[in-house]
Amino acid sequence: MQGWSDKRIAVCGSGMAGLAAAVTAAERGARVVVFEKAPGIGGTTAMSSGLVWTFADIGELMDAIPDGNPALQAVVFNTVDEGRDWLAACGVEMGPEESLIGHGRGRTLVDPRQAVEALAGRLRELGGTIELDTALEELRTDGGRVIGLRVGDGTSRHTMAADAVVLATGGFQGNPELVTRYIVPSTDNLYLRANPWSSGDGLLSALAVGGAATPGMDTFYGHPMLAPPASFSDKDFLNVTQWQGASCVALNLLGRRFVDESTGTGGEVLNQELARQPKGRGFYVLDSRTAGMDLMGGFVNARVILERAQKYHGVVLQADTLEELCQRMQEHGVPGGGAERTLNEYNRAIAAGEGASLSPQRLRKPFPVTVPPFFAVSVKASITLTMGGIAVDEQMRVVRRSGATSLLAQSLSDPSLLREPVVEGLYAAGCDVGNINHRNYMGSLSVALTTGRRAGAAAAGPGPDEGAERR
Ligand SMILES: Cc1cc2nc3c(=O)[nH]c(=O)nc-3n(C[C@H](O)[C@H](O)[C@H](O)COP(=O)(O)OP(=O)(O)OC[C@H]3O[C@@H](n4cnc5c(N)ncnc54)[C@H](O)[C@@H]3O)c2cc1C
Repeated sequence: MQGWSDKRIAVCGSGMAGLAAAVTAAERGARVVVFEKAPGIGGTTAMSSGLVWTFADIGELMDAIPDGNPALQAVVFNTVDEGRDWLAACGVEMGPEESLIGHGRGRTLVDPRQAVEALAGRLRELGGTIELDTALEELRTDGGRVIGLRVGDGTSRHTMAADAVVLATGGFQGNPELVTRYIVPSTDNLYLRANPWSSGDGLLSALAVGGAATPGMDTFYGHPMLAPPASFSDKDFLNVTQWQGASCVALNLLGRRFVDESTGTGGEVLNQELARQPKGRGFYVLDSRTAGMDLMGGFVNARVILERAQKYHGVVLQADTLEELCQRMQEHGVPGGGAERTLNEYNRAIAAGEGASLSPQRLRKPFPVTVPPFFAVSVKASITLTMGGIAVDEQMRVVRRSGATSLLAQSLSDPSLLREPVVEGLYAAGCDVGNINHRNYMGSLSVALTTGRRAGAAAAGPGPDEGAERR
């Protein structure tokens, strides 16, 4: 059933979402051109740890991310297994199926760069092309329908007519104006922990032609990394990421706890709250037990993280008493008395089994900080991907704002009033799509893979046997 589509399709972005869309459309016979803003392919996908995971149980997923779009979450959950098999069939080297972090399962791309090269190779075999250093600048429309796009390299530009355009530009985390508008009052509070090219071009283009934005525009994913004066580059992101947040006590620069450190699946909630604290910075406090723990199902050990922190010239304080540790934090701007009060209050509540009485609460991983030596590591929030973005339907068609009912959660007493008209010819995938992840995290490569494949298939149009199913 391959090769029926006669569509000409432009895909913007060559990360997992864009390449999955492009190859899927090309497998169906569509003539596909991928435009990539950077000088090379792969985006953040190529920088990642490669774990294509999501929750193992759909009920647990929906409980963990109740404010996300359940229909889109179900698309990811229901199609991720076949997506991973499809990657392997495309020549992507995949590790075995594994369970992880207590709630998820997935398979790892053995080498994320090999993965994007394999997908690009498959696209070229199918007749598709990739234009590097060429960015989406503007969508072209006729009568409300997208009929092509204008792309450019900063100095020259050209237009392409297309039956469909897929936006897969990787989110808006690299755009200071959008980050300030939606997420934090000051971008000084955040490191960018992602490729430097994803600056919201997909979102802005979609909005400009009448597309709708989702709820959750202020939510995002990232991990605290070593605060200055630590020095590192994007090649070191994994080495300076402070994965131990859920096991420690996190203090802001006022010496106060500000979040239940154990919330979420991997420190993403802690990171979002840290970004909203003074300077987006704080200290992780650990004792000798928590500083020796295996984390994330053995993915990394807390002791190794502390050793690496010293190597990258991060601030890592060590002391034999909490009092001394807090005095040392005071040298770094944290009121020592306040920090000590916070830690003593935390220890008292945890010892009494009353983590729920703390404010903020501590509901999981109730580890006290009582066994010397004690450690404090200086951390700063980061942003890897934006969770809000372009509103799409289950075929990844961009929802048209005018004519649509509000996308905010509400009780619609008459379901027949629900309206989600679409911008004809326009699709979105990966981090450009909003409200799958929402504050809590269910994976991103899985989202990019599944929404990319869905967008590519929908843009190519229904096959001979698929008409009824797809409409
Ligand atoms: C250190 C690190 C580890 C990670 N590990 C994991 C992990 O193990 N599991 C997981 O699920 N997630 C992980 N992630 C997150 C995940 O890698 C990304 O969120 C995901 O790959 C995003 O895929 P995408 O296709 O949406 O975007 P990207 O892969 O970023 O691709 C977007 C592409 O669009 C291009 N682009 C931008 N603007 C334009 C434009 N105007 N025109 C054309 N092209 C444009 C960009 O240059 C980029 O190449 C990790 C991230 C980091 C930084």
